[in-house]
Amino acid sequence: MFDKKEYDRVRYLRLREKILVVHKSVSGRARRQKWEDENRKNINTKTTAWRHAHPEAAHAAVQKWMKIHAKAYYKKWNADNPQRLKVYRSRWGAKNPSSIKSMRHRRRARKMSAAGNTSAAQLQARVDFYGNRCAYCSGSYEAVDHVIPLSRGGSNWPANLRPACKRCNSSKRAKKLSEWKMVG
Ligand SMILES: [Zn+2]
Repeated sequence: MFDKKEYDRVRYLRLREKILVVHKSVSGRARRQKWEDENRKNINTKTTAWRHAHPEAAHAAVQKWMKIHAKAYYKKWNADNPQRLKVYRSRWGAKNPSSIKSMRHRRRARKMSAAGNTSAAQLQARVDFYGNRCAYCSGSYEAVDHVIPLSRGGSNWPANLRPACKRCNSSKRAKKLSEWKMVG
């Protein structure tokens, strides 16, 4: 009898073998990594020397890297180090009590001071009006967007609410529609 499980297992092993061979033969990146690991000390000395000789270029290079990668880097670091993040945050909070207070206050004020409210039925009507899709890109309905953000004085009245996908919602964030359309 045909054993699908066994068939898949053998097929997987065969493919895996092939992939490994390909990786070994074409991965210049891995080779370079290996070389770097073996010559770490040497490279570090050279890099440090270069940095000292070209402080401005070194600074610019870091800035450039940060501009591209910082957000993802910190996001990953935060996700990988929840305990340390907690410690850092509480230390930062202890050093900056007034910042913490004003952050809390702003968040509360924004929640409290936003005019208007929308019942579940009214929200559903808004969502239905947009065909149960993201009002901006017709993607999936995943979030409720404030057309005029609460932080910009927008309300919680039904007219200010639209269904949105997570992507549109987070890329729009605190922008008004006209500002967001301009960049997006
Ligand atoms: Zn969308």
